[in-house]
Parts: sequence; C-alpha cells; structure tokens
Amino acid sequence: MIDQILPYLRCPFDPHRQTPLQRAEDALLCPACAARFPIRNGIPVLVPRDAILPEGVRHPDQLPPRHLPPSSPPSPMPS
Ligand SMILES: [Zn+2]
Repeated sequence: MIDQILPYLRCPFDPHRQTPLQRAEDALLCPACAARFPIRNGIPVLVPRDAILPEGVRHPDQLPPRHLPPSSPPSPMPS
C-alpha cells in the first residue's frame, strides 16, 4: 500500500515539494532534511506537527535548508 503511493509523497518541509520520501522501517524518511514521518495503521502521517525531527532539532524552523529547488546543480563546496 505505502509502496504504491510512496513515489508520490513529498516532504512537507520542502518548500518546493520536490523531495521524495524514503521508506525507513516504521516511518518515512526525508533524505534532504532527515525528518521522519510516522506510519500509523499503515497510513503515513505527513503532518509537520507530528514529524520526528533529527536529534538536536526542536522545531522545523531549525532544520537545515537542504531541500534543493528542482533540477538545480549541487551547491559548490565551500572553499
Ligand atoms: Zn525534508
């Protein structure tokens, strides 16, 4: 069920709504910002309020802005 809709799900913290989520055991993981979204009764809960934030992050505003705009080249390494 989830595997069928997974390709259509996007991270709710992504302002561009372009970041696909990954299956991570009992949750869905955003590979960009590392937020996790619980799967309850087989239904992924993509609600920012219910998101499991990475360790050390207390509020979604503190998430690093890792969501890249669509088809943008990778950021150059800081010199
Ligand atoms: Zn994200």
